[in-house]
Amino acid sequence: MINIAIDGPVGSGKSSVARECAKRLGIMYVDTGAMYRACALFCIRSGIEISPENEAQIAELLTGKLTLDIRIVDDVQHVYINGEDVSADIRTHGVGMAASMVSALPSVRKFLLDKQLDLAAHNNVIMDGRDIGTVILPNADIKIFMSARPEVRAKRRYDELIAKGEKVTLSQVLIDVNKRDFQDTHRETAPLVQAPDAMFLDTSELDFEQTVEGVIELIRSLDKL
Ligand code: C5P
Repeated sequence: MINIAIDGPVGSGKSSVARECAKRLGIMYVDTGAMYRACALFCIRSGIEISPENEAQIAELLTGKLTLDIRIVDDVQHVYINGEDVSADIRTHGVGMAASMVSALPSVRKFLLDKQLDLAAHNNVIMDGRDIGTVILPNADIKIFMSARPEVRAKRRYDELIAKGEKVTLSQVLIDVNKRDFQDTHRETAPLVQAPDAMFLDTSELDFEQTVEGVIELIRSLDKL
């Protein structure tokens, strides 16, 4: 099996690059952020406030009432909660912020760990997230840590949200990007950090096509596909 780990903060470009590389190589793309977003959406819909005080209740809700499925439909990852396709619903700004809070809870991370390990054990995967190279796939064939300047990342996220019809301002998105960065890097369990053996890629000035080509070349050089 080939296991490629791509980590990085919000707006680093990791998901777009990972998705495109996986498509061109004909291997599976696993967006672990979508799993955290689905858990957050389920909590929101269930009316539970996402906070460390409610962790036991949240853990019970997820393990007892949530069936979370990842399926690939026409090369695109879809996420289902209890059979309902929520792939579009999880992409809002609010769900992203809630995902950052829910992902800080150790029991939620534990809930998703087995699902992520299982996908990597049975498929050639490019998996992206925050802790893939450090916790989920410490023995990945290739580890990449992507980032970019916060202003660049906020602008990318802002453009995505506006294209989807969300009413946000660039300054608010920048504030929230910084907030999410802080939450993701300062939590106790599996914080966002570059693995010592990961390659660092600053995508602030990088051309998308060149980045994709570079990553594909790296993967091909493994000679495993
Ligand atoms: O990547 P995305 O923005 O969709 O992730 C949403 C949130 O899920 C992140 O802000 C982060 O808190 C959390 N996450 C995580 N570990 C991962 C993937 C995402 O904690 N492997």
